[in-house]
Formats: sequence, structure tokens, C-alpha cells
Amino acid sequence: MRLLVVEDEMRIAELIRTGLMRAGFTVDCAGTVADATATLEVGSYDAAILDLGLPDGDGLDVLAKARQAGSVIPFLLLTARDAIDDRVLGLNAGADDYLVKPFAMDELIARTKALLRRPGLALGITLVSGNIQFDTVGREVRVGGKPLALPRQELNVLEHLVRRAGRVVPKSVLEDKLYGIDDELESNAIPVHVSHLRRKLVAAGATPEIHTVRGVGYLLEDKSA
Ligand code: CA
Repeated sequence: MRLLVVEDEMRIAELIRTGLMRAGFTVDCAGTVADATATLEVGSYDAAILDLGLPDGDGLDVLAKARQAGSVIPFLLLTARDAIDDRVLGLNAGADDYLVKPFAMDELIARTKALLRRPGLALGITLVSGNIQFDTVGREVRVGGKPLALPRQELNVLEHLVRRAGRVVPKSVLEDKLYGIDDELESNAIPVHVSHLRRKLVAAGATPEIHTVRGVGYLLEDKSA
């Protein structure tokens, strides 16, 4: 298991590196956003441990760039900022866990191992409803474990429905969300996307069904639940 530790304070970086190596990991270190981003692009890492305060930017920049580049490895954030806003920000940005400094080395090792033990993709990245799995980073859908290829707009519709599974998603919300992507939105665009999507989900054997709530919007409901 190979890890990247991104930490600009040499003393802490060395401490973390030594601890993780004793625990059996292979460890590389980076001290800046630029270095970390370049290293993640070329190296094959199983997880990264990321300090939020870096000399040339924010650790969240590293995370955002990695996620944009399609990385699905777990990220554990280290933060001296004991503020809930930062934690929420980190988890929304696609981080998997965080530790507030100072932390015990044993705790860091335990959390890292827990992240690596997680099946499939990282927390907050795969949305699930019934037998539908939606990988929000890779933009891939699986139904009953089998990949289901969908055009971009149908993926976008499905993402919103899965995020709010069991609750109505107003048509106006879907129009707003998709409007930024389409320059021109035909008045019947959403119903057409939903109709195509519904047909494909049924054909793929999806347990959730898309219901139309007349005059309001759409609802994804898992009939197997
Ligand atoms: Ca720092």
C-alpha cells in the first residue's frame, strides 16, 4: 500500500512518514500544492493524507484537482483549524475523513487503515438507491452491479433523483441544474430526458422507479425497499 503525505512542516511530515512506514506502508511526501498535484498525477497511490495549510495554497486545492482528474482514492485531511465549516467544506469537496491537529499517530494509522478497508469507492462519492450505484466522480452508473451507459443530461437528471431518492425533485430544480450545462433548454427537455432515463432503468432491471408527480416534478422510489 502506497501513501502520499502532503505536509509542509518537515518535522510533522517525517513523524507521519516514520509512523506509517512502521505500520507497513510505503510513503512518499510532498510539501506544496504544486508538488502534491504533480506527484498524484504520476504516482499510483492507494490513499493520500493531506494537510490543509500549505505554503502555495490550500490542501483542498490538491483534493479538488485530484477529483477533477478522476482520482477516487481516499483522502484524509489534517487540519489545525478546529472549525466545523472547514470540515464540512472538506467532506463536500470529496474528502473521506479528517483529523484535527494535534493527533495521535495510532489514530492516524487506524483512520488510514479504515479508509483503505472501505469497499469500492470513497465515502460521499457513490450514491446508492436500491440496486442503482451512482459514482459522482467517475460519472458512472451501475444497476445491479452492471454498468449502464447514459448520456450526460440523463446522468445529471439521475444524479439529482438519486440524491433525493424518496422525495420529489421539482421540475424547476432540474431545469435550473441542467440549464447551466445546456445553453438552450427546450421546454420539453426535462420530460424527454426523464422518459428516456425511465425506460433505460426499467430495461436494466433497476429496483427504483421514476414516478411523475403531475405539475410538480419527479420522484425516484425504490420498490424493493
Ligand atoms: Ca501546514
